[in-house]
Amino acid sequence: MAKSAVFLDRDGVLNVEAGYIRRVDDLNLIPGVAQAVRKLNDLGIFCCLVSNQSGPARNYYPVSHVEALHKRLSQLLMREAGAKLDAVYYCPYLSPSAGGVSADFTRWSTWRKPNTGMLVAAAWEYDLDLKQSFMVGDKATDVDLAHNAGLKGILVKTGYGKKVLKGDYQHRTRPDYIAADLADAVSWICDSLKNV
Ligand SMILES: [Mg+2]
Repeated sequence: MAKSAVFLDRDGVLNVEAGYIRRVDDLNLIPGVAQAVRKLNDLGIFCCLVSNQSGPARNYYPVSHVEALHKRLSQLLMREAGAKLDAVYYCPYLSPSAGGVSADFTRWSTWRKPNTGMLVAAAWEYDLDLKQSFMVGDKATDVDLAHNAGLKGILVKTGYGKKVLKGDYQHRTRPDYIAADLADAVSWICDSLKNV
């Protein structure tokens, strides 16, 4: 049977929002995040990173640097709480109109959030039931992605979350739940799954 999953945005949800992270050591976890991911792991809930990473398209750094950041992220999660991500998806592509300049990565992509490509790919690869799944993000576009793909969308107040709620960033959005942080989001998800 297809299983539920929790899709996690990266910047502002797992790690402290710090713009385009050019030094690997500048990626740092938000407190409590590793324990929250571990809770999902212990419950056997599939954890999947879905992240827009347009640095390569903007010629800020190569894809190998994005991979190095994800390696550090995984190491920190493991070191702090024995936590792990079951899959990692990211979109290095960006349209020219949105600022893409590199020859290899400048294009419109179904994978760029709020388009649903990464979720559809993960659902296909890992047999996930998107209708019984959750997306946790700190931007209105993360909530849009959730609703575009039929998931519950949770907005955390970490990262850009507070600005989104005040109307100072992107656009107004209607999340299914507003969470203080990932730990709060995971508690709500666990309660929701108990009631299925
Ligand atoms: Mg984010």
